[in-house]
Amino acid sequence: MVLLFLTYGLIIGSFLNVLIFRLPLGENIAFPPSRCNDCGNRLKPIHMIPVASYMYLKGKCGYCGKRISPQYPIVELTNGILYALLYLRFGLSPESVIFAIASSLFIVIGILDFRYQDIFNVTIWFGMIISGIFLTFVQLSSGNAIEYMLAGAAGFGLMALVILITRGGMGWGDAWLLLIIGMLLGPSLTAFAFFIASIAGGIVGTYLLTARKMGRRDSVPFGPFLIIGFYGALLIGQEAVRAYLSAF
Ligand SMILES: [Zn+2]
Repeated sequence: MVLLFLTYGLIIGSFLNVLIFRLPLGENIAFPPSRCNDCGNRLKPIHMIPVASYMYLKGKCGYCGKRISPQYPIVELTNGILYALLYLRFGLSPESVIFAIASSLFIVIGILDFRYQDIFNVTIWFGMIISGIFLTFVQLSSGNAIEYMLAGAAGFGLMALVILITRGGMGWGDAWLLLIIGMLLGPSLTAFAFFIASIAGGIVGTYLLTARKMGRRDSVPFGPFLIIGFYGALLIGQEAVRAYLSAF
């Protein structure tokens, strides 16, 4: 079963690559079929096997030999591993399905935010729909829906405050992202995710400043860190929060 989730994740991962490439260009995500971005030759099925094709082709286009970005196999592998871990954590349940969809969406959001410093509206809408479905069908019956909704609202409010104070250091996309994360994780895990994101963002930001890879006026997108926090909260958050609480 783990292997099935892994395989599923790899296949979906290769679709995520299409999304990441075509969303910013405003292209249709289903048509035309995949081509080499350089020579335009249409890819054969043998060129489209997740990770394996990249290794078999040694990271080059099968027609023109142009280098293929390692982002392709990395996205596929990350998505595959996340699916396998989610299965190990949540079993075959509505949670693992919802979290798998959300994890895939967040890979797309994270990479696009990293590259373009922008969180696209269509990805936010999709995330709102997923978290809405999660609240309605999973958390409503367990009586947690209100608490989760408040966690989302609190996350949004917190980011809104940060945006107003820093005046453009962060974008509204980050606020919407934390709203979605809050609705998916509930109060304590959202706090954990935000904590991880702030630490990771702080470390990377400080490194970039001291290594002079960026100036004081440049900004680092916060979305990817929130997403790393989300994955951390999903996979180890419960234990971490419990250990923290029992230490006092
Ligand atoms: Zn080519």
